[in-house]
Amino acid sequence: MISASKLYRLSICPGSEALPQVTREDDPVSREGTVIHEYLANAFGGVETEPLALVPFDYRDRCAAIDLDALDLPYKNTFVETAFAYRPDTEQSRIVGNRILRKYKLTPGEIGCTADMYHIVKPQQVRIVEVKTGQNVGPAYDNLQLRMQALCIAKAHQLTEPVRAEIAYLQSDGSWEFDKTEFTQAALPEIADQIREIVAAVHLEQTRPLSPNVVEGSHCKYCPAFAHCPAKRSLAVAMATELALPTITDLVRREDAGRIYERLKSYDEIAERVKKVIYEMAREEAIPLPSGKSLMEVAQTRETVDGAIALEVLQTKYGSAVACKAVQPTTSKAALDRVLGKESKSALALIDAAGGINRKTYLMVKER
Ligand code: SF4
Repeated sequence: MISASKLYRLSICPGSEALPQVTREDDPVSREGTVIHEYLANAFGGVETEPLALVPFDYRDRCAAIDLDALDLPYKNTFVETAFAYRPDTEQSRIVGNRILRKYKLTPGEIGCTADMYHIVKPQQVRIVEVKTGQNVGPAYDNLQLRMQALCIAKAHQLTEPVRAEIAYLQSDGSWEFDKTEFTQAALPEIADQIREIVAAVHLEQTRPLSPNVVEGSHCKYCPAFAHCPAKRSLAVAMATELALPTITDLVRREDAGRIYERLKSYDEIAERVKKVIYEMAREEAIPLPSGKSLMEVAQTRETVDGAIALEVLQTKYGSAVACKAVQPTTSKAALDRVLGKESKSALALIDAAGGINRKTYLMVKER
């Protein structure tokens, strides 16, 4: 099903929608994103239970550190995870439901769109907040997902004022960075045209008698058609051939380094996916390896020492001096936030002034 979140990829590779789709649910990054979105939907959607209590234990610290107030959304009157059905041919939009987990009931000719959060600022004016927990998705005004949300909301609520919209990027310390924009009424027909063109291109690829045309790029990273993509399959074959080159230095000449680097990233993606399939097989039954070993599921126990209990035991047996040397107290920004709430920033400043924050700068190679 074509939806707002797919539009960017489909605008470059409409053929991807014509291939079989496999959704990845085991990716820890996607899992964290889903948990954070659920937490925000509970926080602003007015659930009776304390929203943090509904967060799986492993993600509590991460969610507790989120500065909710900075989103400037009403705690009870925010529309959360609102699903729309949009018809590109008639430019009509209707609300399908809230928090329906993308289980849209669409009629033929409709496509789906879910808005993370929005609220009515004043009669005829809406403010949309699209939350991102991962990488930057480019300027808000050009973002197709946000554009379609603005169009759907404007049509469904019959707005006459510009739609305010922003992408809120969650930072590792729970603060936000915002990219704010506005879609005027005059921009809406342009957005409608853009969506119509993408949908038409997808239909063209879906009706091709042979394999669809595909276009590779950074948009491939989360493509659900990756496993069935003809370009990626050719790449896998090329990888096997190129890996047979005599030495690594044959691969790495400065003039080729950029191209090879991008290529290696694609190989990594393929290798990760293939590894996952092999791990699944190994979980079912051990796989003998050419080295003579076997790849199999094994139980591993990791031990950690409870600091409070260790301190008590060591104090009793060896005295406080030894115990304090052996047990180092630690804390984190998330823990301070959890206990002190809004006070945590000034507490951190005091700790910093007392020399209690260690900063280490590392040199690393990364894309910028
Ligand atoms: S993986 Fe293949 S089908 Fe998917 S976006 Fe990339 S090129 Fe298109």
